[in-house]
Amino acid sequence: MATQKFDVVVVGTGPGGYVSAIRCAQLGLSVAAVEDDRPGGVCLNWGCIPTKALLRNAEVVHLFARAEEFGIKVSGFQADYAEAVRRSRRVADRMAKGVEFLFRKNKITLVPGRGVLRSATAVEVTGAAGTTTLEGRAVILATGSEPRSIPGVTIDEKRVISSNGAVRNEGRPASLVIIGAGAVGVEFADVYSAYGTTVTLLEALPRIVPIEDEEVSTQLSRIFARRKIEAKTGVKVQSVTASDKGVRVTTDSGTLDAEQVLMAVGRAAKVKDVGLDNLGIQTEKNFVKVSPMMETSVKGVYAIGDMAGAPLLAHKAMAEGVVAAEAIAGKSPRPVDYTNVPSCTYCRPQIASIGLTEAKAKENGRTVTVGKFPFTASGKAVALGDTDGFVKVVADKSTGEILGVHILGPEATEMIHEFAVGRTLEATLEEIIHTIHAHPTLSEAALEATLGALGQAIHL
Ligand code: NAD
Repeated sequence: MATQKFDVVVVGTGPGGYVSAIRCAQLGLSVAAVEDDRPGGVCLNWGCIPTKALLRNAEVVHLFARAEEFGIKVSGFQADYAEAVRRSRRVADRMAKGVEFLFRKNKITLVPGRGVLRSATAVEVTGAAGTTTLEGRAVILATGSEPRSIPGVTIDEKRVISSNGAVRNEGRPASLVIIGAGAVGVEFADVYSAYGTTVTLLEALPRIVPIEDEEVSTQLSRIFARRKIEAKTGVKVQSVTASDKGVRVTTDSGTLDAEQVLMAVGRAAKVKDVGLDNLGIQTEKNFVKVSPMMETSVKGVYAIGDMAGAPLLAHKAMAEGVVAAEAIAGKSPRPVDYTNVPSCTYCRPQIASIGLTEAKAKENGRTVTVGKFPFTASGKAVALGDTDGFVKVVADKSTGEILGVHILGPEATEMIHEFAVGRTLEATLEEIIHTIHAHPTLSEAALEATLGALGQAIHL
């Protein structure tokens, strides 16, 4: 069995793995990256990127449906869902090829196959070309996560599908029950309903997107209801069985029949079959336990991304990948600041947030001031014809510290970064209001919400 030696062996090439591999290479380390699917991981191939392409299609369909509002007559337009899926596959392929290009540029050796840790310095890789052993001074594990289901329900990717199946299926059900109204649930509700599927969202907790600020959930529910996306909250799913129509979902408040069910109840870290047990690497609640430098309980073995704990977000994985790479290279990187990770959901309108919700800030004993600015009062939003939503700023009443920001609306996922940078620089409300925001922009709503928290909103 051949053995190849490197400074670092990275297992998994999702956003955590490929970024850590590139950062290691930039720092002069030789790197092997092991991948048993395509480079780019779930994010590029089956998650973030293809779903954003599908959501863009949904937005275009929506604009066509509203064309008359803009004085444009479009008679009998047809939206081809299969072509939307094919476009999203082309987008994902292009981005995956981009990762391969970056690997070549940085002289990273891509080793196809499945990697298993055999010791703190050895990863055994089994692939089409046989088995090989990669040795490294350090190993970075970045194996990601996979969709999970609820007890007693098997995801067969036919009647009961996961996000993995949904991004591949060129067909579209006439009716769909989505179990779970987190990010995956609301994004697919948006896509399928834009193309004409009757969508019902079932959420166990009392509101949809339950990790977001309550006002975001309430307003998004109203907007979804207007678009005939039904959301049933506080619902306990008892069983999912095959029926004549496709599937029957039995809940504590009745039964629902649909052609398909999309399971969107969260993801489970891929911590099995990676060889953690061979070394006694510690886990906690099915995630690998790591230090602020992303090192596991075994020296020289690092873990990043979804397998290293919440939040299960690509950008958090990338940040962890940089920390791990720099720590291995002997630098003293700044640990990831888990209190300042933006959360972005790309349904229409988009949701973006950072920091604490109003309720959480109060629960933490903070005396808060809140500023809220609706997009109906934003000139740019009115001009765009996109006025659903608001910006909400939650700050400490006495110091002006920005505790949390919650945006529902057009380009929310772009706008949130003003506050991410602001919080990194420990900006207060005062610094935001003394920063001139261009007119007319959607970002003015961020300025106005901040002014509102100080009782100084101009345009409301
Ligand atoms: P999630 O944890 O965000 O949401 C799952 C939802 O399902 C929760 O609201 C939960 O209360 C609900 N739920 C759980 N069990 C249930 C049951 N038995 N019946 C009804 N509802 C139930 O998970 P997700 O939406 O599947 O996404 C998986 C991961 O991927 C998350 O960490 C998410 O942040 C990430 N993701 C992010 C994005 C994005 O950033 N845009 C998009 C997709 C996924």
